[in-house]
Amino acid sequence: MQNLDVNKIRSDFPILSRLVNGKPLVYFDNAATTQKPKDVIDKINYYYSNINSNVHRGVHYLSETASKEYEDTRKLVQNFINAKSHNEIIYTRGTTESINLVASTYGRNNLVEGDEVLITHMEHHSNIVPWQLICEEKGAKLKVVPITDDGELILSEYDKLINEKTKFISVVHISNSLGTINPIKKIIEKAHKYNIPVLIDAAQSIQHTNVNVQELECDFLAFSGHKMYGPTGIGILYGKKELLEKMPPYQGGGDMILSVSFEKTLFNSIPYKFEAGTPHIEGVIGLSEAIKYIQKIGIENISNYESDILKYATEQISDIKEVKIIGTAKEKSSILSFVIDGIHPHDIGTFLDRDGIAIRTGHHCTEPIMRRFNVPATSRASFSFYNLKEEVDVFVESLRSVIKLFS
Ligand code: PMP
Repeated sequence: MQNLDVNKIRSDFPILSRLVNGKPLVYFDNAATTQKPKDVIDKINYYYSNINSNVHRGVHYLSETASKEYEDTRKLVQNFINAKSHNEIIYTRGTTESINLVASTYGRNNLVEGDEVLITHMEHHSNIVPWQLICEEKGAKLKVVPITDDGELILSEYDKLINEKTKFISVVHISNSLGTINPIKKIIEKAHKYNIPVLIDAAQSIQHTNVNVQELECDFLAFSGHKMYGPTGIGILYGKKELLEKMPPYQGGGDMILSVSFEKTLFNSIPYKFEAGTPHIEGVIGLSEAIKYIQKIGIENISNYESDILKYATEQISDIKEVKIIGTAKEKSSILSFVIDGIHPHDIGTFLDRDGIAIRTGHHCTEPIMRRFNVPATSRASFSFYNLKEEVDVFVESLRSVIKLFS
């Protein structure tokens, strides 16, 4: 393992040197959104200062330059997740829109009354509600794979729940509130034995671990730019070409058509069929720098460093007897959720904020998990490769003083 020069890395992120409430910022809310390196910020500035124009529409220099950057990013994303073709990469607003796109196009075209869609108990709301909506519309049923008290999927339940009515499986790669890394390769293999397509919600994995869609053989993959050091409002849907080609468009408008008359519209080929209207050009171009930044550090170095930070934080926090960790799976990544008896997570978050520490408190858009563990909410610290063990120490000390205050 190459040792990361974390102090050098930190200097690439302007926000990390600011003070919050008079204290150095400790940013442990990376699962909600990550901070942006200067490369990304500068690239967005470059775009608006030098090449701002609409893509795919002009023959002039600015439009051609912006279009080239826009399409080059598609190839960069293709390479990043090892897709077979850049035409399998669709720009969306984020994970949420990517999942909605699949539910409302593939789902609408393929589900009929009595069919079943299989998700898990640890999904983010954005991998529950779109399926609920389409199931309701089609008279299909949503089935849920349960989890253990450690927050691991009960894999054998797939064998019980998959049957001839199962038409789609959607599963999160890494849980945003438990940190569990799911064995998605095994789940995909099980599904493909019955020719059931699988969508992977990679919102919490793409920035932490190697994701290779051809090796996984997943049918769809969704992720967000803002959780991988890129801009907000941009995300990716990967889909296998043969599936995307059969799916109807998501939205109608400019760019997604070949020709339009009042009698009939012919749709553009993939991926453009799914990209109606002027896209988030700035977001796409900013995303390219975020990917290059991750590649520069190396995803394996990132994974190893973050595992180390998680291990250290887990050890430190386990020394505090009042703390109960929610999510104790064997395979975990970057997320530490916990509760403290008698102190509401919002109070913990507010007190830590006074010390300049940003953590997340609440249900993390996973209400079914909160119910499963019988808690209203948790406090969640989530780590990135720019975090330091010294910051973990500051966090643990602050946590100890909150406990003292409330006892
Ligand atoms: N899935 C998971 C696992 C997530 O953590 C999130 C964001 N918290 C989403 C989906 C939704 O992502 P976005 O809000 O960027 O669309």
